Amino acid sequence: MVEKADLVSIVLPVFNEEELIATTINKLEKYVETRNERFELIFVNDGSSDRTVQIIKHHASRKPNIKLVNFSRNFGHQLAITAGIRYTSGSAVVVMDADLQDSPEIISKMISMWQQGYDVVYGQRVARAGESKFKKFTAATFYRLLDRITSIEIPVDTGDFRLMDRKVVDVLTSMDEPEPFVRGMVSWVGFKQAAVRYERQERIAGETKYPLKKMFKLAMDGITSFSNFPLKLISIIGSGLFGIGVALILGCLIFSFSDVDILASVVVAMAGAVITSVGVLGSYIYRTFVASRKRPLYVVESAVGFTETVSQPNS
Ligand code: UDP
Ligand code: MG
Repeated sequence: MVEKADLVSIVLPVFNEEELIATTINKLEKYVETRNERFELIFVNDGSSDRTVQIIKHHASRKPNIKLVNFSRNFGHQLAITAGIRYTSGSAVVVMDADLQDSPEIISKMISMWQQGYDVVYGQRVARAGESKFKKFTAATFYRLLDRITSIEIPVDTGDFRLMDRKVVDVLTSMDEPEPFVRGMVSWVGFKQAAVRYERQERIAGETKYPLKKMFKLAMDGITSFSNFPLKLISIIGSGLFGIGVALILGCLIFSFSDVDILASVVVAMAGAVITSVGVLGSYIYRTFVASRKRPLYVVESAVGFTETVSQPNS
């Protein structure tokens, strides 16, 4: 078994969680006491307007390993995670929600897999308690769609609850993506990744802070930052329409239909040509977008036989 240094950081983004934050801190403290490793708990307050911050501050003043990163407004869950992991100093970093839907006990499994040599151990949900049929259906559909249209492997039914080795966190923090889709970025980084399957619990209190609008944004960020499939789809639809238009024109000429029919067929073909051009244009814009992203070109895990360190592009 590989022995790793013993500080584990836990990052928890929080947004208006006054009903449950004290319970969460309490539970985590109890959990931490059962372990041999040292832990730091980093709460990222994502612009809460209730008493969440006061409660965390109170606990932070009592215990030095309870820490707070306080956003000036609500920047969203994904940016709260992005910020939180930058403040960590553990050799492993766990990201989890503050509502205890992902129970702390799972962290023990993650740690033991990390000690066995895995660099990322992500929580894969086999069941989700207390969530609406709509949420379960849309989430399941989204993960499967994403899996089909992206070139990297983003595991299905997996949120942001995961443990990452320091070297993964270091790559992640170098990425600086403006609209981050963290779970996709972690998959992109690579290294040895494994799943821990678990049953997602109900929220211990309060309502979800992920309304449909935020869920939709997350889904769009996931798709647009890891796939150009929508652009390909535009080109496919456009060229299909163009083909139909040309066939209609030929049909009209052969079977001598009226001028109106020919005109209508020309309109269909033109629409197809315009839509195809939009798709092609989009593909060029996508390349500029990819180039402007601060994603490293590649990640080298190790190199053997070099005496000098080789500098890596863009990292
Ligand atoms: N959260 C956040 N900023 C937001 C929305 C949510 O920091 O804009 C936090 C929230 O407090 C919780 C975690 O992100 O700790 C997950 O949110 P939630 O439990 O509402 O999402 P769900 O589990 O319903 O998908
Ligand atoms: Mg939740």
